[in-house]
Amino acid sequence: RAKSRQRGGHFYFSRGMGVEIRERVRLMHALRSGFARGELFLAYQPQVELAAHRPFGAEALLRWRTEDGRLVPPDRFIPIAESSGLIVEIGAWVLRQACAELMRLRAAGYLDFTMSINVSQVQFRHPGFLDMLRKALLDTGAPPERVELEITESMAMEEPDLLIERLASIKRTGVSIAIDDFGTGFSSLSYLQRLQVDRLKIDRAFVTEITGSARGSSIAEMVIELGRNLGLSIIAEGVEDERQAQILQALGCPLAQGFLFSRPLAPEALLEWLSEDALTRAA
Ligand code: C2E
Ligand code: MG
Ligand code: MG
Ligand code: MG
Repeated sequence: RAKSRQRGGHFYFSRGMGVEIRERVRLMHALRSGFARGELFLAYQPQVELAAHRPFGAEALLRWRTEDGRLVPPDRFIPIAESSGLIVEIGAWVLRQACAELMRLRAAGYLDFTMSINVSQVQFRHPGFLDMLRKALLDTGAPPERVELEITESMAMEEPDLLIERLASIKRTGVSIAIDDFGTGFSSLSYLQRLQVDRLKIDRAFVTEITGSARGSSIAEMVIELGRNLGLSIIAEGVEDERQAQILQALGCPLAQGFLFSRPLAPEALLEWLSEDALTRAA
């Protein structure tokens, strides 16, 4: 079966791909107009300290509800936004929106709260990325030290020199960096040492494995150990049950995110969740 190959934002395709391409093109147009009409929005998933279940931040996750009310998952439309280059505009909007939400949370009294924002590889490589980041921080007033950008490990594997330089300039803005879905690639210790990252996010797949087999926790353990050796913060993603949370904590992972604590929430629901949670702790 023919496969599409992406180069420099263009698609080269061969015969036999007609249907797939047409569907992608249709979705791309729908996304472009949907974005312009305001069909995109963000959901916020709380991040907690495992020991006390205390929330300290949230990850902004992009959502698209189409005209007919269907929710298209990000794994479906983000690759399309990337191949069309639209992700640069969408990503800038996400950053601004998430920073603005951080400011609303601060206004509600959550001054230590952090906001994690996913950044696509295409967006990250774009020459205007740094200016866009600085402007979003300046315009919204979001304190850089409360903002974290998530890049994926696969991104960390490509063009190491560009990445190292980019990360260094991002760090100079005061924003911190997490490597998302960590453990799926094969970043070496020496390479990681050269990247100015602050946090590793253990991929959900390895959190799920923890309770599976006898050696199920080995990758999670390795990531935690790696983080400790490099002096990086570690967070586990996709934590769905108590047992996973307990094992992670026993292994020395202090932070987590997952359905066990909360699903991604609308802004009002996040505020409600935070205040309820505080009440529970106070009781
Ligand atoms: P991610 O950044 O690794 O985000 C974590 C995904 O896991 C989210 O899926 C979240 O809803 C889901 N999740 C969280 N806790 C659990 C759990 O306990 N169990 C299970 N089964 N899933 C859990 P979502 O929102 O569908 O996002 C998928 C991916 O789309 C994200 O993976 C990220 O790579 C990408 N994405 C989302 N928002 C953005 C964005 O604003 N910009 C970019 N470039 N990518 C985004
Ligand atoms: Mg993420
Ligand atoms: Mg992830
Ligand atoms: Mg992911």
